[in-house]
Parts: sequence; C-alpha cells; structure tokens
Amino acid sequence: MSETAAANAPRIGFVSLGCPKALTDSELILTQLAAEGYQTSKTLEGADLVIVNTCGFIDEAVQESLEAIGEALSVGGGKVIVTGCLGAKTIAAPASAAAAGQSGASGGEPENLIRRMHPAVLAVTGPHATQEVMDAVHRHLPRPHDPFLDLVPGAFGAAGIKLTPRHYAYLKISEGCNHRCTFCIIPSLRGDLVSRPVGDVLKEAQALFEGGVKELLVISQDTAAYGVEVKYRTGFWEGRPIKTRMLDLVRALADLAGQYGAWLRLHYVYPYPHVDEVLALMAEGRVLPYLDVPFQHSAPSVLRRMKRPASGEQNLERIRRWRALCPQLVIRSTFIAGFPGETPAEFEHLLDFIAQARLDRVGCFAYSPVDGAAANALPGMLPAQERQARRARLMAVAEAVSTAKLRERVGAVMQVLVDAAPALGRKGGVGRSYADAPEIDGVVHLLTPEKISKQLRVGQFTQARIVDTRGHDLVGVPV
Ligand code: SF4
Repeated sequence: MSETAAANAPRIGFVSLGCPKALTDSELILTQLAAEGYQTSKTLEGADLVIVNTCGFIDEAVQESLEAIGEALSVGGGKVIVTGCLGAKTIAAPASAAAAGQSGASGGEPENLIRRMHPAVLAVTGPHATQEVMDAVHRHLPRPHDPFLDLVPGAFGAAGIKLTPRHYAYLKISEGCNHRCTFCIIPSLRGDLVSRPVGDVLKEAQALFEGGVKELLVISQDTAAYGVEVKYRTGFWEGRPIKTRMLDLVRALADLAGQYGAWLRLHYVYPYPHVDEVLALMAEGRVLPYLDVPFQHSAPSVLRRMKRPASGEQNLERIRRWRALCPQLVIRSTFIAGFPGETPAEFEHLLDFIAQARLDRVGCFAYSPVDGAAANALPGMLPAQERQARRARLMAVAEAVSTAKLRERVGAVMQVLVDAAPALGRKGGVGRSYADAPEIDGVVHLLTPEKISKQLRVGQFTQARIVDTRGHDLVGVPV
C-alpha cells in the first residue's frame, strides 16, 4: 500500500478473547484485513469499526465478552461486528416477546444472545467465520483501494493465500521486486526480489491441493523473474533437483496440479522472451492458457519513462507469437492512462495497441500520484479531468474488444469451476471458465442444468454450453 493510502486506510480495532482456537480465527481475520489494506490495532480509540472475537466457554468468559462488546460500542464509534463462540449462542425468547409475536421471538424461538444483549451490533457470526466477518466488514467499511497494489489480486500477506474459499488459493512465489517502475513504491516498501525456495513453494502447493484446492493462482510482483536473484540455483523437491526458475517451477506445479485434477493459473508475468516456453505448457493443457501481463502502456517512450521491465520488447509481435503457439490463450492486462507527459500521439499509440492486441480483459487506472513515487517529479502532469477522460476512452475501446471476444464463445462447451451452487445447483449457480480469474474477471452464470439429475457442487468442475453473454460475463447451461 502506498504511504498515502496506508495513512488513509480505514482502521479496525480488534479484541480477541478466548482459547488458542479462537486466537487462530483472530489471526486469520487480521491477516485477511491486512492483506486487503485495512489498518488494524488492539486499541479501540479512533477505530472506524471494531471486531470482537468472543468466547462463550464459561460464565466468566461470557461476561467478559459481553462487556467487551459494550465497551466497543461506546468507544469504537458504534460500528461493531461480533464473531466467535458466543456469537453462536442462543437463549430462549422472553415469554412476553413470544406472546406478542415479536420479530425473532415468535413462538418462543430461541434468540441470539448477543443480538438480545447488544441489538446495536452490525453483524454476529459464530466461530471459524472469516469470510462472513469479511463480508460484514466490506458492507460497513468498504475496503481501501490502492490502484498500484490492486493490480495484483490478494498478493499481499503470505497467509492471505489460505483465506480464499477452499477450492482456490493464491500461491506467492516471491516477495519484493528488482525493478524501479517510476509510478510504483513497492520496492521501497518491500525491498528487492526474494524468491521463495522452490521446495517450499512446491510443498505449500501440495498442501493446498491436498486440502481441496482446485485452482492454484501463482502470484508475485514479477512471476517471470522468479529465481533471478539466486541465479536460478538448484533446489530440491522430493529428492529431485529443480531449478529456482519460472519454467522449472511451473512445470513441477503443473505436474502436481495434474495429479489432483486442478487448474494452475499464472498472474503477473512480464513479457520476457523466456515466457514463450511456458506457452508450450499452456498449449499442452498443463497450465491454464491464461496470462495476466501488466503492460501498463504500449508507447516505447512512455514505457521508458515508466522504467518498465521488458519495455524494449515488441509486445504486439510477442502477443501474435503467443497466440500462434496457443490459440486459446486469454490475456488480461492493466494500463495507466494519462501518465505524466503522455502526449496525444502516445495515447493514440496505446489505443491502437489495445485495439490490435485484442486483449480479453483490460483494467485501466487514470494516473494518480502515489506519495514517494519518482514519476511525480516528471514534467507534464496532466489535469485530473484529462487523465480520467483518457481512461474512459481507453476502456471504451477495450470493452468493445472484450465484448466481441465474449460473444465468440456462444455455442462453445467450456469447463467451469463452480463457485456457488445453492441447493446443489438445481436452479443453477455461478462458476468460472479458464478465461476468468477469481475476483478480477467475469464469471459464468450457470442456468438450470439440462438433466434434472445433474447436481452442481462448489469446488467441482462441470461442463457448460455457453448460450449468451451478460456484460463481462457468460451465461451457460450445465451439460
Ligand atoms: S515491476 Fe514495477 S510496478 Fe511491479 S512491483 Fe516492481 S516496480 Fe512495482
């Protein structure tokens, strides 16, 4: 997170009570909050919202928890979310409420204890409910947005990797970055590239597959640079020597994913020549034919001012070659419009690139100065309105391409990983194809399955015949 963003990030006070298991729950929630850019603290003063992880084991613990909630309500600005064992406790409705048929108490149905004692709390969950707590946090205190970090989905905080839904997970292969892009302060915050030992990465991947992960998303600041700083030294995995190098790691990960019938998706890959070798693995079906390549711009002069890695590459040429190697390849990228000094001709170059490269998914930020970034000192800062206008023009071109490419899929049968399937998917659900990374791309809306006997389950694959598009999404019938 940039310094400005960090200073402005919403602050969440956290009270953690109870046993070691409750503590682990707290750690998971705190890690996820940090991974999403929230500030957290153990004190309540000045907090924008407070989370209380409660204990309901003995009366004393119940009392302590109830008092902590009361204090949080009075000190923490009134926004309080309660989780933990006490959150799951119910008590009998008072006779008078039952008789009057009051909401939540009619017929003497048990009431949630916390709701009864502290009706002002915003949300109450039981233990092990990280996702529910995060959903409540998002509802009441929107997550902070830092355009230069949000380019990588969930990449910050190693333990965040394990906080996704059970069936997909992020696998961070390195930390830090050796580049010095002028708009970015990540290297000054996180230091130079440090690649994780290849054996550790593979061990974690195996544990995730063992735990039911069906889609593994490889992340870092610069995935293609994996192992550069250790000169691609040889590491070991199950007694086998494996080089600390992207291609070797991806091969080994692809073997593992194959054993578990899981997908392997690569994020943040810069267009270095050696990426071509990974395309062969995609063409063979061992790695999802999906590349998240943050181009940021196309005009060589702007790329030089940005000090982008691989800025000398002929990116249109490279994309053509990638598509020749792997025709089903989906490319996602992000761009910055209105970089300092961007001339109308440089911007037109970018629009041309977007149209010709026919990228499947595009994100674009209007340039915004991040405190401490070298680009702020570059001449030719454009007015904010112009930067926004360029962003809008770029997105219009990108969306036209993207929509046309989505329409080409109508009629195809695609493999879909199911993300949601209420009532076993009898009325459909939501999933994603290889073309959709979680949270940043579209989805496949699944309609009622063709066969009445067909069931959909979260974390399982289904085939779906694509029948329509809906905005950035596809609509399919499970077959
Ligand atoms: S490659 Fe550039 S944008 Fe990405 S983390 Fe490194 S310095 Fe920042």
